[in-house]
Amino acid sequence: MQPQPAATFSPAAGSASGAATNAVGSNFERPALAPLLLSTKSTVWGDAAPDALEPFANTAQDRALRSSTLQRHGHRCMFCGLESLANEVHNRNDNHRDLSEENLMVADPICHRWFHLGQLRKGEGLVVYLPGLSGRDASHLLRTILIALTCDDEAASKDAKRLLNWMASHHEYVRQRWGSSEPSAFAAAVARTVHDDPARRAIAFDGLALVIHPQTVEKATQQMRAELTAHWPVNAWPRVAHDVLNAPT
Ligand SMILES: [Zn+2]
Repeated sequence: MQPQPAATFSPAAGSASGAATNAVGSNFERPALAPLLLSTKSTVWGDAAPDALEPFANTAQDRALRSSTLQRHGHRCMFCGLESLANEVHNRNDNHRDLSEENLMVADPICHRWFHLGQLRKGEGLVVYLPGLSGRDASHLLRTILIALTCDDEAASKDAKRLLNWMASHHEYVRQRWGSSEPSAFAAAVARTVHDDPARRAIAFDGLALVIHPQTVEKATQQMRAELTAHWPVNAWPRVAHDVLNAPT
């Protein structure tokens, strides 16, 4: 007999916050999520720290700017909607010298890497072909896998490893079609050809996604795991999946 789900695992439909979330028009309260697009930061402005995601100087002014950006957006990723203290400041137009308010946004550590292909060294990530899976869902799936990989539940950890290998195996399609599945090769192509034409790039890269090696975002994963499992322990995930898949339409 299946154990009864604990109350905390059910959608918060009866709570005040749940009622607010389900209210008509509630979707207008937040900006729509932006599409993920494989990219690389522009180097024509001469970043002082080429390996850094966002090369802020470590001054009080820059720390305040980073903090105010994260707070202004509620630490919410502009691409997938994840709210996490692990999230980072993202330069929307890839120009890291543009510190205007409208250019400083928030991205989680996984979505953010999509825009920093040039910073991923060999072995740190692969470009894969996963048609039918949106970039946003690929990001959510990868995050779930990374969190499950090192959890205490042995079966979940094994499933996560299988799923990660399944995702990564789709790099072979990219290697055959594009000649390389290395993020750095795509970064070079973006920098050479279509950096100024995101619409064209979105068509050319349709179906492509980024798979990141667990060690590349290990520290951030620890933070995201702590936040997620505080509300949704890994052993509750089967029940969550059941509820989502069987939700009334
Ligand atoms: Zn995200």
